[in-house]
Amino acid sequence: MKLLKEVILEKGKVRGDDVLKVDSFLNHQLDINLLNEIGKEFKNRFKDDNITKILTIEASGIAIAVIAAQYFNVPVVFAKKVESKNVDNDNAYESKIYSFTKGKTYSTKVCKDYLNDTDNILVVDDFLANAQAALGLKDLVNQSGANLAGIGIVIEKGFQGGGKLLRDNGIRVESLAIINSMSKDGIDFA
Ligand code: 5GP
Repeated sequence: MKLLKEVILEKGKVRGDDVLKVDSFLNHQLDINLLNEIGKEFKNRFKDDNITKILTIEASGIAIAVIAAQYFNVPVVFAKKVESKNVDNDNAYESKIYSFTKGKTYSTKVCKDYLNDTDNILVVDDFLANAQAALGLKDLVNQSGANLAGIGIVIEKGFQGGGKLLRDNGIRVESLAIINSMSKDGIDFA
């Protein structure tokens, strides 16, 4: 997606070898024009898939999912990360996810009322690195008996292997920008 790549080149900041900061448009301040174009592009790529729900994970996925959902005209469900008294533990699907950016494992939950076996789910997230978040969300979908139609990713770091792992397992992954390599000197897209 040309606009997204331009914004990444202009505003993304590479930290170390493998973290891209996108706080000025995707992870902290939100560029709504860009998010609208991202939503349209996800709709374009999954237009024939009869998506019934979009599933994401808090917090960064929510804005992306909500704007995309307006083009699909479906509800958004987001997996909750924290131990919340608002999630009834006896009535929730649960999966453990190792966080790439935080370096720790946390539990995610979705109330059983909001995913069911008639759903056709599009998972969306901001980044794909080692696919821990994507696999955790897939696990929640599997537990519910719903179908996983595919995974829509805004920025895939192709050099970290998560995309290959998912695709090798037959999962459809649509990434709007795939980074082949990055350093403080620049970013190369696939
Ligand atoms: P994975 O589970 O695929 O290893 O990592 C994906 C998750 O980690 C995403 O939900 C995202 O929040 C976070 N993440 C991974 N790499 C980056 C990165 O380079 N920059 C930012 N901002 N977040 C990342």
